[in-house]
Amino acid sequence: MCNSTDTKPTLIGLSRDELARVFAALGVPERAQAMRVAQLWNWIYARGATDFQQMTVLSKDLRASLAESWSLARPEIVTEQISTDGTRKWLLRLMPDKPGADGPLVETVYIPETRRGTLCISSQVGCTLTCPFCHTGTQKLVRNLSPQEITGQIMVARDRVGDWPEAQAEDATGLPDAERKITNIVLMGMGEPLYNFAHVRDAMAIASASDGLAYSKRRITLSTSGVVPEIPRWGGEANTMLAVSLHAVRDELRDKLVPINRKWPIAELLAACRNYPSLSNARRITFEYVMLKGVNDTLGDAKELVRLLAGIPAKINLIPFNPWPGAPYQCSAWEQIEKFAEVVNRAGYASPVRSPRGRDIMAACGQLKSASVKTRASKRRAEAAAP
Ligand code: SAH
Ligand code: SF4
Repeated sequence: MCNSTDTKPTLIGLSRDELARVFAALGVPERAQAMRVAQLWNWIYARGATDFQQMTVLSKDLRASLAESWSLARPEIVTEQISTDGTRKWLLRLMPDKPGADGPLVETVYIPETRRGTLCISSQVGCTLTCPFCHTGTQKLVRNLSPQEITGQIMVARDRVGDWPEAQAEDATGLPDAERKITNIVLMGMGEPLYNFAHVRDAMAIASASDGLAYSKRRITLSTSGVVPEIPRWGGEANTMLAVSLHAVRDELRDKLVPINRKWPIAELLAACRNYPSLSNARRITFEYVMLKGVNDTLGDAKELVRLLAGIPAKINLIPFNPWPGAPYQCSAWEQIEKFAEVVNRAGYASPVRSPRGRDIMAACGQLKSASVKTRASKRRAEAAAP
């Protein structure tokens, strides 16, 4: 059984070329490599195999030599929390960077609805950007996740919600009433995915390959704070759906809320959005707008938002601010969010308020931060409070 405590490197997240090299090293002749890779991908991504022994299509010897040096390990689950609304959050431990060290931690969140389920995955441990309303931005330790670690989050989630043929979840609380439990993937967890471009691209190639995890690109959404030069590149090389964290309609305020705006201001960001490939009414960019009390939530802001987005096939997602300990902001009053939404609705954007999910387990947008860091912070607070 290959499990997360396995110390052998995992084959999950390796590209077809890399797997061909694995087979070559095991003595599989070149002409047979592509077929072997296809068989392996099928077992890993269509059937969710966790053990080479299951892969009866490979010879016994080949299975044994694969198992000698490789594993099918997913990231280790440190904790699994299930919210009263069915949202699940996993704290995952990655392989350590140095032998003997503790592996870094990331969070992955699953949001079930009646007929669909969205998996929110992380692209980095922490984030180098420092949007002051975002909990992840306060985390010091930052590193990019590898394609294995990004793909591994999807695998672990599918294991836990029983989203493989003939599999069943250990705990079915709140799961959608549909055959597929995870129908959508969003890169909206920890980190700025466009600052880890190649690894996120390679992992999404596996997520979207028809003989890989087989999610249509229309069901994969990358959220960016606005790394403008990488937007056309992402359009060219991955072309998934795009979400943009706008959060303010004037540069002066956006410079503070989304500091990357000082480098690439609103006009440049929107120009990149306008040019994003194959936009249409059926394929729109989502603009995310966090509702911060007394900061960006006037009706004047709402009108300006609608004016700015004119001509871009767009959806607007109003996100009630999710609080976290020590956050310097408050969520706008509900009536204010409704009035803001009304202006946006009147301009033709439908049902834009994202209902907060999993707040009781700190799984909502912007609340993610590795528990190890949280524990240290709470220890510091406790020490500071001590007489
Ligand atoms: N770094 C990327 C993706 C991760 S953040 C980005 O910034 O887009 C995913 C979304 O959650 C972003 O729109 C982000 O602005 C939003 N967010 C961050 N902190 C939040 C909070 N405390 N409440 C609500 N939304 C938040
Ligand atoms: Fe990073 Fe996104 Fe959080 Fe900003 S909102 S700090 S870019 S994760």
